[in-house]
Amino acid sequence: MTTSVPEIQQIVDAVRTRRRFVLSSHSRPDGDAIGSQLAMAYALRTMGKEAEIINVDPAPAPLMAFPGVADIQLASSVDGDFDAAIIMECGDLKRTGVSGFERFFVINIDHHPGNEAYGQINWFDASAAACSEMVYDVVRALGVPLTREIATHIYLAILTDTGSFHYSSISPRTFEICRECMAAGVDPVLVARNVYDSNNMGRLKLFGAVLGAMQIDQSGRIAIVYVDHEMARAAGGTYEDTEGLINLPLTVKEIEAVVFFKQEKGDEYRVSLRSKGDVDINAIAKEYGGGGHKNASGCTISGPIEELQRAIVGKIESAINGRPAGR
Ligand code: 5GP
Ligand code: MN
Repeated sequence: MTTSVPEIQQIVDAVRTRRRFVLSSHSRPDGDAIGSQLAMAYALRTMGKEAEIINVDPAPAPLMAFPGVADIQLASSVDGDFDAAIIMECGDLKRTGVSGFERFFVINIDHHPGNEAYGQINWFDASAAACSEMVYDVVRALGVPLTREIATHIYLAILTDTGSFHYSSISPRTFEICRECMAAGVDPVLVARNVYDSNNMGRLKLFGAVLGAMQIDQSGRIAIVYVDHEMARAAGGTYEDTEGLINLPLTVKEIEAVVFFKQEKGDEYRVSLRSKGDVDINAIAKEYGGGGHKNASGCTISGPIEELQRAIVGKIESAINGRPAGR
């Protein structure tokens, strides 16, 4: 355990001396956002504290099967009275999509490079494979037993944030924590089935349509995928159903990076980027005002789609050519 980190002790002291907590994370929450928040919420409740989770967007549908997810409150502002806000897995307060947290004592726990240190306590660790690894440390330092609920959410967050143990952020600690979670009663088979094998038919058809229209750049190393509202409607799926689709082109040996354009409205697109190994696509997302991690980033951009595609693919080609040799 990393109790030598001074921020962990600060968090422990701040939690012990307070009673009512509001928890949040980034908009369009992913598995790490949901898992980190719920692991923390269950830990606080075990200590006899009050813990409410407020998010601006609902959890991805497959995660509704996990304990406590259905009780997350959806709102764009926080109205109640709390002794502290614990924001996890979120680089800046605006990305919560919920206003009002700045009124409280803010504890910021995150692993995104570029975190804006917006809290009274800021614990940032880019080496964590998931924010839930950091939550695990806090739970342990608080002396809270690792219940099955807490362990399930920590494991869920690691499983999803590492892309099922695919990304380079994984460390020996990742497996130590997963080992502890399994010893605490987590069933990895059941978690994987709930996360990955609970799709609807519209999702599968939409995957087919989007992958059928996929383009490959001239180098053969970059996949370009695209979805708009019309494609989703025709397949009987929704944009939420495209969650995870971006990882599929990466399963092709030669493909080193994927860019996924989702039309929002008119010329506005949500862009997701993924890469393998040392191909750093985070810098590209940042150039467009977004962010994320070396192998998984995103941004929102506007313009004619052909131009946007050409510009981003060009930048990815440079990232592939500029990486250290051999990886
Ligand atoms: P996704 O492509 O799944 O939306 O996001 C991949 C990663 O990039 C996640 O870690 C997410 O937090 C981060 N990310 C996505 N979009 C944005 C954005 O607009 N701004 C920032 N700072 N990070 C983003
Ligand atoms: Mn994360």
